[in-house]
Amino acid sequence: MKTLKEIIDICKFQAFDLNFTRAKEWKLEKDGRVLVGYMPIYFPREIIHAAGGMAVGIFGGGDRKQIIKGDAYYQSYICHIPRSIIELALDKHMAHFDGFIFPSICDVIRNLSGIFKQQKIGKFVKYMDFPQNFLPEIGGVFYQQEMQHVLKYIKEINGIDVTIDALNHAIDLYNKNRKMISYIYNIRQDFPWRLSIEDVYYIVRAGTVMPVEEHNELLEQVCEHIKENIGVPQDKIKVVISGAFCEQPAIGLIKAIEEAGCYVVDDDYMLGSRMILGDIDASSNNPLEAISNSYIKQSQYSSSIYDVNNPKEYRLAKIVESRGATGVIFAAASFCDPSLLDAPIFQNAFNKMGIRYISFQYSENINQYKVIKEQVGAFSDSIKLWEDEPVTAVI
Ligand code: SF4
Repeated sequence: MKTLKEIIDICKFQAFDLNFTRAKEWKLEKDGRVLVGYMPIYFPREIIHAAGGMAVGIFGGGDRKQIIKGDAYYQSYICHIPRSIIELALDKHMAHFDGFIFPSICDVIRNLSGIFKQQKIGKFVKYMDFPQNFLPEIGGVFYQQEMQHVLKYIKEINGIDVTIDALNHAIDLYNKNRKMISYIYNIRQDFPWRLSIEDVYYIVRAGTVMPVEEHNELLEQVCEHIKENIGVPQDKIKVVISGAFCEQPAIGLIKAIEEAGCYVVDDDYMLGSRMILGDIDASSNNPLEAISNSYIKQSQYSSSIYDVNNPKEYRLAKIVESRGATGVIFAAASFCDPSLLDAPIFQNAFNKMGIRYISFQYSENINQYKVIKEQVGAFSDSIKLWEDEPVTAVI
């Protein structure tokens, strides 16, 4: 078994390897393998696995890629992530990818899919709509058709007809993956000092760029390590981070929040890897239906989902309560419409519920966050001094 530090070092390298080296090696190991890049937030990676491929998360260049060409494609008043993704593509970081999926989240992602098509990047480019109708016979059927469309693209490349067994096997692997990530978050809820949020971030993000089987092996070892009473508790408040689901904050900012006096006990940084709550049925005769049912019935709260019967502010409040948090930090990428449009809804609801919050904006390539750190520190101190009770009975 590797030490926790060894695992974190591996994950740190993989998570920020902008050349996607492990994915490339994996593809070259066997004929017929395909790589399919997907943008945030969520994509059912199981179907790519079942088709002999690997779904690879693309979360932008962060603060590790200078943008030169990317700015030419976008106006100044939108978020940063599409510029760095274009830059990565034009600089051939993803030349070994076969196709690209752009899950529906906002107009920026939609337009990015158009630029990929226009530039003829990859063998296929799909803008993938996710259902906003939560009836299995309507939204569910539509979603299954979208997944079949993706599988058709892959078959045109490697000739593989996806079988029920292959889909169920993939579902089982990703069920294990989600279960172990969930275990890590559950341990951190009570013992957040055992593993920092920075390390959790490396571990979860690495899973988006390596084979799920390898990630599961690493996760198993992480789970073993954090069963032990490691680390030293510190006087910090527990918070939930919301709004950072697409363009990712620089790692220094993720770190700064905990350094400023907060334990982040839940977040939406890598929401896609945690989107489905609980297992997907891995023994169904119709696995695509099982995947679509999981999205319709077991999704976490997200700005990309509008479920009138299950308002997202209550879903987030429930997370805050169940994690025993005393506050929420709304962290939105600058110009991120989905996140910034949600913020007033959350804030109005939280004012009524008595949930404390602060908000700030960031950009993936900005490494100056002294002001944010001070703001978070003041938030933490004010809660520690005047009200340290976790949120209860808000729902
Ligand atoms: S950061 Fe926000 S606005 Fe930008 S692509 Fe992502 S979801 Fe869309």
